[in-house]
Amino acid sequence: MESKKSVVSSFDVDHITLKAGLYLRSVYTINEQYAVHSWDMRFRATMDHAPLGAEEVHTIEHLMAYHLRLDAEIGSSIVSFCPMGCKTGFYLSTMNDVSAEQIRSALARVYKCVFPLKSKEDIVGLNEVQCGNPGLFAIESTNFAMAQYMRALYTPEQAEQAGIGSIYNCVW
Ligand SMILES: [Zn+2]
Repeated sequence: MESKKSVVSSFDVDHITLKAGLYLRSVYTINEQYAVHSWDMRFRATMDHAPLGAEEVHTIEHLMAYHLRLDAEIGSSIVSFCPMGCKTGFYLSTMNDVSAEQIRSALARVYKCVFPLKSKEDIVGLNEVQCGNPGLFAIESTNFAMAQYMRALYTPEQAEQAGIGSIYNCVW
């Protein structure tokens, strides 16, 4: 299998100035046939030295890996959703027919349907059969982290229009 890479790879980006946001990080062509886009969903600006906790990372991984795949617009183009080891964000891999705007909209739809979390029961797959560490989760701080990330993607006006105005009014 031959793998080619273009655009800009993670290690070529200046992490000193990287802000929270959504970035196209790499394009991989697999078997000279399938173009896969790797998106950087950066939750925490790297220079803030305030990574997510393991509980938040695990909770968001469960929710997004499941709910983004169910999204009517981009779900069938999703390859994978994985946490970054540095805990400042996640990698979303999609086929090349998905735009940043479509991902942003899909995130708003998932946010609207899933957040704020009220209890462990809201976190899909968090059990001993489907997960390696079901005790690792957080409710309040995940609600906070997710609203904070959405504020990086949506202005207050855009959030109102997308039906997620609560990201600016949340009490967490
Ligand atoms: Zn798990």
